[in-house]
Amino acid sequence: MTPTEPRAASPALQVLSDVFGYGAFRGQQAAIVEHVIDGGDALVLMPTGGGKSLCYQVPAIVRQRQGRGITVVVSPLIALMHDQVGALEEVGVHAAFLNSTLDLAAAQAVEREVIAGRLTMLYVAPERLMTPRLQGMLASLNERGQLGLFAIDEAHCVSQWGHDFREDYLQLSVLHEQFPDVPRIALTATADDHTRADIVERLKLEDARLFISSFDRPNIRYTLVEKDKPRDQLLRFIRDEHEGEAGIVYCGSRKKVEETAAWLVSQDVSALPYHAGLDADVRRRHQDRFLREDGLVMVATIAFGMGIDKPDVRFVAHLDLPKNIEGYYQETGRAGRDGAPADAWMAYGLADVVNQRRMIDESPAAEEFKRVQRGKLDALLALAETHDCRRVRLLSYFGEDSQRCGNCDNCLNPPQVWDATEAARKLLSCIYRFQQHGQQRFGARSFGAGQLIDVLRGKVTDKVTQYGHDTLSTFGIGADLDESQWRAVLRQLVALGLVVAEGEFNTLAMTDEARAVLKGEVTLMLKTPSEVTPGRRGRITRSGKAAGPKAAPIALDAEAQARYEALRAWRSEVAREHNLPAYIVFNDATLAEMAHRLPASLSALADIGGVGAKKLDAYGSEILRVLGTR
Ligand code: ADP
Ligand code: ZN
Repeated sequence: MTPTEPRAASPALQVLSDVFGYGAFRGQQAAIVEHVIDGGDALVLMPTGGGKSLCYQVPAIVRQRQGRGITVVVSPLIALMHDQVGALEEVGVHAAFLNSTLDLAAAQAVEREVIAGRLTMLYVAPERLMTPRLQGMLASLNERGQLGLFAIDEAHCVSQWGHDFREDYLQLSVLHEQFPDVPRIALTATADDHTRADIVERLKLEDARLFISSFDRPNIRYTLVEKDKPRDQLLRFIRDEHEGEAGIVYCGSRKKVEETAAWLVSQDVSALPYHAGLDADVRRRHQDRFLREDGLVMVATIAFGMGIDKPDVRFVAHLDLPKNIEGYYQETGRAGRDGAPADAWMAYGLADVVNQRRMIDESPAAEEFKRVQRGKLDALLALAETHDCRRVRLLSYFGEDSQRCGNCDNCLNPPQVWDATEAARKLLSCIYRFQQHGQQRFGARSFGAGQLIDVLRGKVTDKVTQYGHDTLSTFGIGADLDESQWRAVLRQLVALGLVVAEGEFNTLAMTDEARAVLKGEVTLMLKTPSEVTPGRRGRITRSGKAAGPKAAPIALDAEAQARYEALRAWRSEVAREHNLPAYIVFNDATLAEMAHRLPASLSALADIGGVGAKKLDAYGSEILRVLGTR
């Protein structure tokens, strides 16, 4: 029997390997790419870091090679276009962008390239795409059969439901009307049904094939800790786990962003602030530094992050509760796009729960809208309070079934739970006494968490005696628990909607739902608060992860580690010369593999993931020199 010939690689696979230097498609990429190359429309839902870019870049290259012309990529992220185009040029794909940052001469130069048919990909902002000038250009390309594909990135921007809505995206339905024969691929990392329906309707993608990927990000470890001096917790988390690594710290307000960044800097952490209140210039500079320099921590509001495709963000920390699980998942998804271990860490506490509930209650929105918001907040709080696998919860929120993950705080350190039914009843009856007592003696006057816990624990303070709270029947009935345990009970009762904090003084009150607990009709199992600060407790040190700032994504021995660092230094120089972020030259995983496998020839080097033909040609011999194998 003659050995069977290996099947000729498809054009798509060939492009993946020659141009990008990767050996295989991930997940649904192969199916998507084939469908689009064949001229089908596609709607792609894939988590951040899932590999959306290749889904349109590979078809763009293949279609251009087949003589079908240029791919137009629509993106709202003007600030990132320069680097996206730079990354393509690095792998030898001729691309350009048109947006408001170009002066007239530069824009005209790009237009000439487009008309001459020399470009494979053109990135444009939606408002630019709709100008009569560009529409005219596209029409003339189309007449010549040289309009190959439209890729609509961040497609959720057409939906008014998310916080990224862009008016200009609504115009994009014109593409289908003007160019019905040009295939379109729309991509987003936003998964909910509502947004998806909006995209289909507004972009007229009724006939598009839907590709939904798993939203799991297995390399991200989820940890949610109880707030206890959150700044110190954050600093310890950074020092213990991520010294010298790039990360994002999300805060709820501009003021807190500024304060936290300044404080981190005072603690010798390289941190920068980012929020919508900063000068556009400052914002651009900070974003640029974050992308280009190693190991910076960006302290930001949610204004920061969309489209940030820096692959080596090693952690995303939340110092305030996000609005909902969609937001949390999108923000944490910015960690670990390179597939190497990364952390999603959040500290949350009673005040977060109270504030979020109140913001919804007091917003001027319609009751129906508030109801939806409350439901979303409840789901987030359930995630925060769960004793089970965080990932199972997260994925089930997005409609996916899964097994315990082994890579979240609850899987790694299963929390002790205790029956808190009795404690909850004590706490609720104490609130009840407060309400009665307050009404009799002080009119509307009532009291917050501190007073409540003092009374439960039987602590005689000035404020307790002043208001006669030491005479209440509930005074001292909770001496068996300490303050932090009581706070945990209270927080969870608020999270469950059994207790609300109202008015200027956060006055505590019971809701109707609390009655069942008060009567002992339901059991309440709560997590045992940890004595040790949770961020530090029982962490598993990643195997092979060297201490110090230059940890590699894979385990390296001392000699390989030295080579890795030499390669990084070489990469920094190249990146500076080309005015591009270092990871666009080669990402950390690629450098680590080079350091580990120590290729002795160009062909051995070409086998390493991320080394395509153009980069091999441009950098191959330099790399062998740095490695000392030439
Ligand atoms: P997304 O846009 O979905 O957030 P990207 O397109 O930025 O994700 O891809 C995330 C990372 O994964 C990038 O560093 C990319 O080079 C890498 N990647 C994507 N697909 C593959 C693949 N098939 N093989 C190897 N690496 C890949
Ligand atoms: Zn888990």
